[in-house]
Amino acid sequence: MIQFYCTKCDFKSIVEHFHCPYCGSPIIGKEVDYTGRISNITTIYTVPEGFKAPVRIAIAVTSNNLRVLGNVPDDDSVKENDEVYITKKEGRFYFTPVHTKY
Ligand SMILES: [Zn+2]
Repeated sequence: MIQFYCTKCDFKSIVEHFHCPYCGSPIIGKEVDYTGRISNITTIYTVPEGFKAPVRIAIAVTSNNLRVLGNVPDDDSVKENDEVYITKKEGRFYFTPVHTKY
């Protein structure tokens, strides 16, 4: 996972940027092991073509307060308030449990 930082102001993002959207300065990327806490989960039953319903999506909030929209597994392994790893694959974010509880 790469986090992108503005070299001049406080802007940061996990979406790739080459220039800061606020001040126009160059952006640098740094590899980080990203985790967040799930704030909301919803299940979508009507999905676009190419997706298999139902799709579970969630918002994860990282320790530095970035809000990330991504997919969670289609089972009950991730719940609200759980800590998750955030990974990016083919332009989409995925959340997987940090602690597997059984
Ligand atoms: Zn900036």
